[in-house]
Amino acid sequence: MHFNSNIEDNSLDNWDSQSKPYFIIGGPCSAESSQQIDSIAKELSRNKISFLRAGAWKPRTLPGAFEGFGEIVLDWLVDARQKYNIEVGTEVGLPKHVEACLKRNIRIVWIGTRTTPNPFAVQEIANAMKDTDMMVLVKNPICPEINLWIGAIERLKMAGITRIAAIHRGFSTPRENKYRYPALWWLVERFRKKMPEVPIICDPSHICGKRELLDTVIRRALKNNYNGFMIEVHHNPDASMTDGGQQVTPTDFYRIVSYIKRHNKRN
Ligand code: PEP
Ligand code: MN
Repeated sequence: MHFNSNIEDNSLDNWDSQSKPYFIIGGPCSAESSQQIDSIAKELSRNKISFLRAGAWKPRTLPGAFEGFGEIVLDWLVDARQKYNIEVGTEVGLPKHVEACLKRNIRIVWIGTRTTPNPFAVQEIANAMKDTDMMVLVKNPICPEINLWIGAIERLKMAGITRIAAIHRGFSTPRENKYRYPALWWLVERFRKKMPEVPIICDPSHICGKRELLDTVIRRALKNNYNGFMIEVHHNPDASMTDGGQQVTPTDFYRIVSYIKRHNKRN
């Protein structure tokens, strides 16, 4: 499958853990309407960001909260992909999510922080993807146990998945902290030493919980030679249905992206 070029004209197919940070994923926490997906996709493609993220199924900690619009979101994503020539991806937490993505040729997905620590769930997901060319981004487990992260990646590899990256989105810790999910950089370095071949993407949005904190985390990830970023973007963050405080407007997103680009040129 051919992937579009992204910010530095690098192709996802050439992407490995030695690359400079250039793999940028942007988009809303949750897909909220077909119009929203259309307008954000248009924005991204105009700014040469070639990967749109949007949640279809949202695994909420407590029942009763908005759980995403489900499978119809995939149709919105496919329309955006066709119209704007960008790649699209969403979170999968169950085999039926994988099947719904495969049915529409959505080949980039991520496994969320509440799914990675569950070996039964990961195994079922891996079985549903068996021997496909899906690219799977594996978020760190919500609990600070890196062996669960490694185990999830190994299960995918054993199912024949070759394009795998890790997403660092922070960890739940019992102490109050200014970050929503503290980064625990030292722990992630331990993970990277054990899996040096796996590219790592920073998700500063979930680490921070507040958009004001994003810059510091992004700088640290660049310093640590991360390979990319996944950032939540929304036209009106405070009105969004999930994760309002941490999403940034497209304008702020491009400011961040150009900062990352400048950093790439310098290094
Ligand atoms: C998300 O990406 O919106 C999400 C739910 O992520 P996480 O699994 O990191 O909480
Ligand atoms: Mn989110």
